[in-house]
Amino acid sequence: MKVKFLKSATRPDEYPFPYKPEVAIVGRSNAGKSSFINAFVGQKIAKVSGTPGKTRLLNFFELEEQVYLVDCPGYGYATGSLKEALGWQEMIETYFKKRETLKGVILIMDIRRDWEDEEKLLQDWLTHHKTPWTVILNKSDKLSRSAALGRRAKLQKSAGDVPMLIVSSMKKSGFDDVKNLILKEWS
Ligand code: GDP
Repeated sequence: MKVKFLKSATRPDEYPFPYKPEVAIVGRSNAGKSSFINAFVGQKIAKVSGTPGKTRLLNFFELEEQVYLVDCPGYGYATGSLKEALGWQEMIETYFKKRETLKGVILIMDIRRDWEDEEKLLQDWLTHHKTPWTVILNKSDKLSRSAALGRRAKLQKSAGDVPMLIVSSMKKSGFDDVKNLILKEWS
């Protein structure tokens, strides 16, 4: 896939000029957000975690000269730092609120994890701002097909009627639907 790094930003005045439709990707630390982005675009553009809490920026990329992809910092580090948690919340909610070209948000989850407070918070913001979103249940290679479908049914009860796609970044499975979403539906 053709990919171009545009810039990193924290505040609205630093976001790149909104020439193109935009899709943002968020996820709990260790859900496999970076692995997903790298596998999806076929290049190592996102840093696979090693030092949690380090990437505190919104990273803007352009895909296929068509759509902007924003890699948002992960959440849910067990640092216990309230200041850091509030900083993340402010940056992300401001972004959701201000970015007029934002067409959709992808929430990456480890398929084995439950819907927790942070996911509820994101769900509330996205619903409030009427932003379309989709949940990607990653690491499905860790489960059998039937167990994966069972997990999705359980998570769907907490999350409501948001679309949930089952993928494996390791096996690159389930990517066709994501491609369709980002490069067709949301562009
Ligand atoms: P991030 O913190 O959300 O960016 O997560 P990373 O991409 O750094 O991945 C966290 C860990 O999960 C790494 O050890 C990855 O190799 C692993 N991982 C990511 N995606 C998958 C997947 O689809 N299957 C499996 N089995 N492991 C994965």
